[in-house]
This record gives sequence, C-alpha cells and structure tokens, in this order.
Amino acid sequence: MNPANPATEWNQMSLATALMEHKGSAKGPRCTLCVILDDLPKEDKAALVAAMSDQSFTGAAISRALKSQHHTISGSVVMRHRKGECQK
Ligand SMILES: [Zn+2]
Repeated sequence: MNPANPATEWNQMSLATALMEHKGSAKGPRCTLCVILDDLPKEDKAALVAAMSDQSFTGAAISRALKSQHHTISGSVVMRHRKGECQK
C-alpha cells in the first residue's frame, strides 16, 4: 500500500483482483433459470422442465409465470437456457 497515491494503488489492486477472478475460468454468473430449477420443489421443477421443452411456451410466457411465483427472471434468460447457452 502507498498512502501517498491511494488511487493508483487501488487501480493496481483492482486489476490484480480481476485477473485472479478470471484465471483458469471463463465462467460468468450462474444462469438464473438453473438457480431457480435447483431451488424449486420436485413437482414445480418437473412442470418447469416440461414447459421449457414445450415450444408452445415462449420464453416470455415462462418468465411471466415464474414472476407470478416471485422469481425474478427475464424472457431472454429463459431463451438462453433453452438454447443451452447458459452457465450451468
Ligand atoms: Zn440455465
């Protein structure tokens, strides 16, 4: 630490921290839908999995249903999960 120039020190620390966080891993934050699936009781989970594989449910419809159950998720996250592009 250099108290004479805390701003520079902070920037160096931030970069070092950021580099460590990305070291050996390309993973971002977990997919919200995966997190919700982990938390749901068995029957709700089965219903959600069934809806996800049913193309007559849009991502927006699934996100609205989840929001009505107090889960915060956007339609685009649902679609990303559906395409298998999420971070499991
Ligand atoms: Zn997912």
